[in-house]
Amino acid sequence: MKTLILGAGYAGLAVATKLKPMPGLEVKLLERNPYHTFETRLHEAAAHNTKVTLPLTPLLKGTGVELVLANIESVDLDSKSVQLKDGQSISYDTLVVGLGSVTNFYRIPGLAEYSTELKELRDADAIFSFVNRVYDAGYQGSRDIVVGGAGLTGVELVTELAQRNEVLSRERGLPPFTIYLVEAGPKILPVLDDALRAKAQQTLDEYGIKTLIGHRIMQATENSVTVQTADGQQSVIEAGKIIWTGGIQARDIVKGERLEKGPGNRIVVDATLRVPAYPEVFVVGDMGLGLNQDGKPVPTTAQHAGQQGRLTGKNLMRLMAGEELKPYEPNTLGEFVSLGGLMAVGWMKLPWNQKLAMTGGLAHVMKRASEWRWRSSIS
Ligand SMILES: Cc1cc2nc3c(=O)[nH]c(=O)nc-3n(C[C@H](O)[C@H](O)[C@H](O)COP(=O)(O)OP(=O)(O)OC[C@H]3O[C@@H](n4cnc5c(N)ncnc54)[C@H](O)[C@@H]3O)c2cc1C
Repeated sequence: MKTLILGAGYAGLAVATKLKPMPGLEVKLLERNPYHTFETRLHEAAAHNTKVTLPLTPLLKGTGVELVLANIESVDLDSKSVQLKDGQSISYDTLVVGLGSVTNFYRIPGLAEYSTELKELRDADAIFSFVNRVYDAGYQGSRDIVVGGAGLTGVELVTELAQRNEVLSRERGLPPFTIYLVEAGPKILPVLDDALRAKAQQTLDEYGIKTLIGHRIMQATENSVTVQTADGQQSVIEAGKIIWTGGIQARDIVKGERLEKGPGNRIVVDATLRVPAYPEVFVVGDMGLGLNQDGKPVPTTAQHAGQQGRLTGKNLMRLMAGEELKPYEPNTLGEFVSLGGLMAVGWMKLPWNQKLAMTGGLAHVMKRASEWRWRSSIS
C-alpha cells in the first residue's frame, strides 16, 4: 500500500510516529521543512529566540517512514496524485493530509501586505529581529507594536513580548515600547471562563499592555492601523510592527469533485477521519472538520491534531491487518494559556466532566507538561 502523509505538524508527525514497518506498506512523509515546528511555542521564539524545532529524521527511526523534503503545490483526489512545486507528481493508494491552516486576513485592506503572521519560524524570527532593532541607537520610526486578535496566540504573544521589552529596556536604558492588543470582539480569550479571563486581563494590565476590546481593525498601512469601535468612532494607531493573529482557515490545497468543505474551509470527514467520497483519504489536524460527541467541530488545536494523528497512525496499521478502523473520540484534557515567564491560566479536566481551574505557576507547569507529553509521544 503506497501511502503518503502530507505535513509533519502535530497531526502528520503523530501519524508517522505511530507506524511500524510492515510487508507491503510503503510510507513517505512529505514536508517542506527538515524539522517539526512546535507551533504552540512560536510566541516564545518571537520574543526570546527560543529553539522551537526538532529535526525530523531521528524521530522517524524504526517507523519505516521515509522523509521526503517537498513543497506541495496541490492535491488532486480524483487522479490520486500530489503535485509538488518543482513540477513532480506523486501517486498514492492511501493519503493522509495534515497540512495545517493559514492566516485569515478577512480581506481587511492592507493587512495581508503589511502585517506579520505567527504561523512559522520565519514569522517568529521577523518579530524577534524587530524587537531587537527598536533598541538600536540609530532606530528611526515608531517603536510600538500592534497585535490584532486577543485569542490564545495574541495573548501569549503580547505577554511574552512585554517580558522581553522590560528586559531590553532595563539593559539598554531606553524607555519600553508600547504594545497594543486590539480585539474586535467583546472579550479577550473567549475560550476561558470569566474568572480566568479576569486573571489574564489583570496580567496584561500589569505589563502595561494597552488592550482595546471592541475595536475592529479596518485598515493597515506600512506603519499604522485604523481601528473602529461599534459606534463608528475611528482612530489611527502608529506602529513599527503590526502582527495579525485574529483568524485562521484550513489550507486550501486539496481539490476533488466530490470533496465537501465546512466552516473555516475545513474538509468534512467521517467518524474515522476519512473523506466520505474518497475513503482512501484521511484528513487530520486543522485541515479536517473532526466532530466531538455533540456533533460540533473540535477546536483547531495541537491537542486535537495529535489525538487525530495517533488514531490515524493506528488505523493505518489496522487497515494493513484487515481489521476494522476505530472511530475518532476527541478528549479535551484542558486548556492553558501562558502569560509570559512562569505565569499561565487554564483548566484541567477532572473525572465526571468537572474542570479544575488553575492560575500562576501550577498552570505554567501544566502547560509545560502537555508539551512534554507531546515530545515523548513522538520520540
Ligand atoms: C503561536 C501559537 C500558539 C498556539 N498555542 C496552542 C496551544 O497552546 N495549545 C494548542 O492545543 N494549540 C495551540 N496552537 C494551535 C496549534 O499549533 C495548531 O492547532 C496545530 O499546529 C495544528 O496541527 P496540524 O498538524 O494540523 O498543522 P501544523 O502543526 O501547522 O503542521 C502543518 C505542517 O504542514 C507543513 N506544510 C504546510 N504546507 C506545506 C506545503 N505546501 N508543502 C509541504 N509541507 C507543508 C508545515 O510545514 C507543517 O509542518 C497554537 C498556534 C499558534 C500559531
